[in-house]
Amino acid sequence: MPYRGVLLNRQNIFRRDNQTCQYCGSKDDLTIDHVLPRSRAGVSSWDNLTTACRTCNSRKGDFTPEEANMKLTQKPFKPSFLLFLRDFSGNIDEQWYTYLGKKQKSGVGI
Ligand SMILES: [Zn+2]
Repeated sequence: MPYRGVLLNRQNIFRRDNQTCQYCGSKDDLTIDHVLPRSRAGVSSWDNLTTACRTCNSRKGDFTPEEANMKLTQKPFKPSFLLFLRDFSGNIDEQWYTYLGKKQKSGVGI
């Protein structure tokens, strides 16, 4: 069964967020931030994880963005596989091309 969703990992979260801190727009020293902190029962999911630079991440600490008075540029969301490919087509892993190639071949019955 090919995996059709986008794998939830650091690299893909950075990609979704355009390698940009979602609080201040910095592209340096990026980390993953739990929007609702883990200490407050925040889960590791697409819609609770966002890209934050180290400065914003430590400033936010165990607060929600509202409490810390830090506005998210973009609400975290779960990207669809196709959206992900389209938006990041300039930057697709070699592996993904292989997967797409195989898919196309089986589609035309080779
Ligand atoms: Zn930042």
